[in-house]
Amino acid sequence: MTLEAPEIRHWIDNTAVAGTGTRRLPVWDPATGQQQATVVAATAAETDAAVASALAAFPGWRAQSLSRRAEVMFRFRELVDANRKEIAALVSLEHGKTVADAGGELARGLENIEFATGAPHLLKGGYSEQAAGGVDVYSIRQPLGVVAGITPFNFPAMVPMWMFCNALVCGNTFVLKPSEKDPSVTLLLADLLRQAGLPDGAFNVVQGDREAVETLIAHPDVQALSFVGSTPVAKAVYEAGTRAGKRVQALGGAKNHMVVLPDADVDAAADAAVSAGYGSAGERCMAISVVVAVGPVADPLVRAISERVGRINVGPATDPAAEMGPLISREHRDRVAGYLADPGGAEVVVDGRNAPLADGPGFFLGASLVDRVSPGSPLYTDEIFGPVLSVVRVDTYEEALKLVNDNEYGNGTAIFTRDGGAARRFQYDVVCGMVGVNVPVPVPVAYYSFGGWKSSLFGDLHMYGPDGIQFYTRSKVVTSRWPDPATSQVDLGFPKVR
Ligand code: NAD
Repeated sequence: MTLEAPEIRHWIDNTAVAGTGTRRLPVWDPATGQQQATVVAATAAETDAAVASALAAFPGWRAQSLSRRAEVMFRFRELVDANRKEIAALVSLEHGKTVADAGGELARGLENIEFATGAPHLLKGGYSEQAAGGVDVYSIRQPLGVVAGITPFNFPAMVPMWMFCNALVCGNTFVLKPSEKDPSVTLLLADLLRQAGLPDGAFNVVQGDREAVETLIAHPDVQALSFVGSTPVAKAVYEAGTRAGKRVQALGGAKNHMVVLPDADVDAAADAAVSAGYGSAGERCMAISVVVAVGPVADPLVRAISERVGRINVGPATDPAAEMGPLISREHRDRVAGYLADPGGAEVVVDGRNAPLADGPGFFLGASLVDRVSPGSPLYTDEIFGPVLSVVRVDTYEEALKLVNDNEYGNGTAIFTRDGGAARRFQYDVVCGMVGVNVPVPVPVAYYSFGGWKSSLFGDLHMYGPDGIQFYTRSKVVTSRWPDPATSQVDLGFPKVR
């Protein structure tokens, strides 16, 4: 362990500031198991200072024209694009995902910046001329004020961009509390926002964990909270935030099923299951974690998946040949491996604990495949969030659908078939927020919105896209009369339009 590990700073008033707190949290290099940096968890006073900075910046930023706010986003987009390599490298260094995967994360983040540049179009209100005699009615959307974002470790650049691009372009100011496990990239993004012309205080970052989140939830000057993370924390943040009178959207965990019908192309389905199951070592909320094999497709499908799993190249992000990196922490790796040690009667077809790097100091676990998983076992019911793909065998489409619909989570799901009618029926019947038809990871493009159902989301509005604009603004309706003085009179009756 490096005792002199550099300290990660906060970002307040467009300046990186050293923390003064006493609680120190390690940032690991997941590939080596060594500590590479330290988060000095924000004190309540530091979190208050970030909120105060955002509050002071709000009137000025809000008053800037829509074009000017969009222009900052245009410049930010160019800067992020120009610095792709550096940003992706920083994500890989702390998260452990391959550089190519980090580049993919960034590309999806860029889509969100691009969407935000067009926000003025979505901020247009409605106008009704002559709603009553000489009376016009119109609606406008206004920013909320200071809003906060709390983000998970698995997409340290993209998920913050899901939030702050729309929040800022709508005229809000922002306080971000990134994951304490891979926080550095947010400081790089903060500096690029500064270079893009975002005024001091409009975007702030406080480092830390639960304590900083609780300060933000309780803070009277924070109007809204966007949260992405695990379900128990999402639920707790939603409940505490709404109790405190705030607008909250809290996205939680997932258990995404891929239903494979008997008529599916087995090789294409196996390619998709392996890509979606093991990409980013399964640490994606849209990863496929359960393949539901319907009828006779099961045997050939399991065979095709296991052939592919054996060929996955596991290694550190610094190895250009690596396709899958380590997990985020030692505890998490050990927890995931525990499901392989005790598969609850299921058949471990490929055991990632035997992979070459799995017994080294880094947090590696090889890709693992478990067949004949029982829907009652923890392998099925828990969100594992690692490179473990389960296969549940069922006899009929109806059984497959019931399995997906009865599951606690409803983030993403996919169906693989050559039958358009069956796919359409699935899309109609399935109780889930994001559906893929022969697409295993159906993350919506930035001009739709992202969100699951059931225990995968607490709140009403999904994240980014049109829902993001709605979440970060509130509507006001103005009823206006510029009367002809000749028609003015006293009338105590309730306003009528006819
Ligand atoms: P996490 O819930 O442990 O942490 C998320 C954030 O909450 C972090 O910033 C963390 O510091 C903070 N936090 C942790 N415990 C807290 C507490 N008790 N009170 C207040 N704040 C707390 O999640 P994680 O391990 O960083 O990320 C993985 C999880 O996120 C998985 O469950 C994954 O499915 C989920 N996720 C969901 C989506 C989605 O869009 N639905 C996207 C990405 C990740």
